[in-house]
Amino acid sequence: MAAPSIPALKQEYLHCQRCPELCQSRTQVVFGVGNEKADVLLIGEAPGKFEDQKGIPFCGMSGKILDQLLATINLAREDIFITNTILCRPEDNRNPTAEEVNNCHERLDQLIKIMQPKVIVTIGNFATERILGKKGISSLRGKVFDYTSGSKVIPVIHPASYLYSGRNPGLFEQMRQDFLKISEIISIKKKQKSLAEF
Ligand code: URA
Repeated sequence: MAAPSIPALKQEYLHCQRCPELCQSRTQVVFGVGNEKADVLLIGEAPGKFEDQKGIPFCGMSGKILDQLLATINLAREDIFITNTILCRPEDNRNPTAEEVNNCHERLDQLIKIMQPKVIVTIGNFATERILGKKGISSLRGKVFDYTSGSKVIPVIHPASYLYSGRNPGLFEQMRQDFLKISEIISIKKKQKSLAEF
């Protein structure tokens, strides 16, 4: 049965034991934070070292870049909800396994069902493949897809790729353009809603 609210869903996963290896490597389950009524849900890959310590997604270097990109479209953390494809930090930041993604599948489905966000932003390859079933972030980035929940999905480059690139300004510009799409969708959906109410 679907959890009736985000706090109930969080409670359900607080001591999750589905992935034996992740139970060993994590300090805590990093459920996700932000505005539960937000129009925008961001989904990353997995908690890293700082996230695991603090219990907050994207609170390290990648998070700083993400905050800069959000600021370019006048959004702050309190305007969005942010979580990850999997809730627990893999040892040495290894990639999540297919089984781990699968074990966290229902949790993410339920979160989307409860929130009904206008836009789902998938950050990087893992989140994009999890939501769209498609691989290849460099060709998918910045495109707008329809999701079963009625939400739009926009894949974006992971800020870690920008950091690995040595902060390539051209890459940042691409990311900024992709974030503009988020703001366009939110305003189109707001206009549609107010016309429907008219
Ligand atoms: N990278 C992610 O994908 N998620 C985080 O929470 C932090 C870094």
